[in-house]
Amino acid sequence: MNDYDADRIREVLGRRGYEPTSDALEADVILLNTCSIRRKAEERVLAAASRYGALKRRRPEVVLAVAGCVAQQEGERLLDRLPAVDLVFGPDAIARAGELLDDVRGSRRRLAATEFAPPDEYTFLTAEPSEVGVTALVTIQKGCDNGCAYCVVPGVRGAEVSRPLGKVVAEVARFVHAGAREVTLIGQNVNSYRGADAAGGFAHLLRVVAAVPDLLRVRFTTSHPRDFTREVAEVMRDVPQVMPWLHLPVQAGSTRVLAAMRRGYTREEYLAKVELVRTLVPGVSLTTDVIVGFPGESAEDFRETLSLLDAVQFDSIYSFAYSLRPGTPALALGDDVAPEVKRARLHEVQALQATITTRALERLVGRSVEVLVEGESRRGGQVCGRTPGNHVVNFAPPAGTAAEALRGRLVTPRITCARTHTLLGQVP
Ligand code: SAH
Ligand code: SF4
Repeated sequence: MNDYDADRIREVLGRRGYEPTSDALEADVILLNTCSIRRKAEERVLAAASRYGALKRRRPEVVLAVAGCVAQQEGERLLDRLPAVDLVFGPDAIARAGELLDDVRGSRRRLAATEFAPPDEYTFLTAEPSEVGVTALVTIQKGCDNGCAYCVVPGVRGAEVSRPLGKVVAEVARFVHAGAREVTLIGQNVNSYRGADAAGGFAHLLRVVAAVPDLLRVRFTTSHPRDFTREVAEVMRDVPQVMPWLHLPVQAGSTRVLAAMRRGYTREEYLAKVELVRTLVPGVSLTTDVIVGFPGESAEDFRETLSLLDAVQFDSIYSFAYSLRPGTPALALGDDVAPEVKRARLHEVQALQATITTRALERLVGRSVEVLVEGESRRGGQVCGRTPGNHVVNFAPPAGTAAEALRGRLVTPRITCARTHTLLGQVP
C-alpha cells in the first residue's frame, strides 16, 4: 500500500515540476512516507526525521515533510514532537501534496493535513505511470471495516471504500501499456471488494482484470480468511492468468486468541479454507502472517500457532511480535507477554518456518517452472523472476541472449537448487 502511495506522491510532485533525487544533500524537499502498522516502523521514521533535522540545521531552506500513516495518526502532534518537520500529510491528502508543499515553501508556515475524505466522496489517486517495471501494484480498495483488536489500519486509513471496477481496469491497462506484465491487486480485505459497477464482487473483478490484453499474470493481496470464497478459488483454478498463490493471514493458531483478536474465524474454520483452496487449486502456494505475544497468549496458545504452521506447511510466512498501537481495541487488554517471551516465541516460529520453507522450495528442484522475468538479478550475469507460486528464481539467460531481452517474458527454466529463500534454475 505504501509503495503504491509513494509512487503516486512521486507522480503528483513530478507534475508540479519536482525531480527526484536520492541525495539528501542536494534535495530541496525531503519527504518521508511512513507506516504505522507496528511500533518498530514508527520508531524508524522518528529516527529518520531527527537525522534529516540535523541536516536542516545546515540548510534551513530545506522542507521536511512526513506523509503516510504515522502522519495520519499523529497529525499536528508530529509538528510539536519534531520541530524540524514542516509538513505532515496523510494518505487522503496525496493528491494535494504539490499545493501543500508550495504553500509551506512560500509561506514558511508549518502545516498538518490529515482530514479524511467522507467515504462516499473519496476519490482514488489515478496512476499515470510513464515507465514501470514488469510488475505493478494496483489499489482496488482503501481502508478497512474490520476491527481486528491489534490493528491501526481502520484508524489511519479510514472506512473501507471499493474503487469502481472500470477505474481499476483502466489503471491496469495503463500499467500494461507502460510495460507491466503482471499486476497485484491490493486492498486490506480484497474479498469484500464491492466496486459500484461490479455485479459479482471480487471474483468478477479478477476475471475482468485477467482479460486485459497483454497482461500475463494477476495476483492479489490481502485475503481475509473469513471472506475468502469458493468462487475466488474457482477463478484461481479456471483463469490461467490468475496465479496459484494465496496470502491468507492467520495471525494465531488458537481459537481463543483469534477471538480476542476479533478475527471472526476459528482455527478449524481457517483450516477448512486452506483445505478448500488446496482441493480446488492443487499445488497452490500459501503464505500467511503470524503475530506472537498478543495479550493473554499463553504458552499453550502459542503451541497452537506452531502446530498450525506444521499442519498447513505454508510456503513462507511473515511473523511479528505484537506491539501496542494507538487507538486500537487491544490497548484495553494490556501487554502481558514479556518482551523476552515475545522474542523467544518469534524466534521459535521463524526457526520452524525456515525448515518448512526449505522443504517447500526443495520440492520444486528438478521441475521445470514458468518464470516471468523481472530483470537482471543482483548477482551479475543472471536474471530473476517469480514462479506462479511467487517463489523467486535466478538463472542465467541462454547463451547469446541478453538479460534485457528476457525482461517481461515467460521462460521455463528447470530448477536445479534451492537456497534459503530463492531458487536457482537453468534453461536448456
Ligand atoms: N489486512 C491484512 C493485514 C494488514 S497488516 C489482514 O487482515 O490480514 C499486515 C500484518 O501486520 C498483519 O497481518 C499482522 O500480522 C501484522 N500486524 C498488524 N498489527 C500489528 C500489531 N499491532 N503488532 C504486530 N503485528 C501487527
Ligand atoms: Fe487490520 Fe484486520 Fe483490517 Fe487487516 S482486516 S487491515 S488486520 S483491521
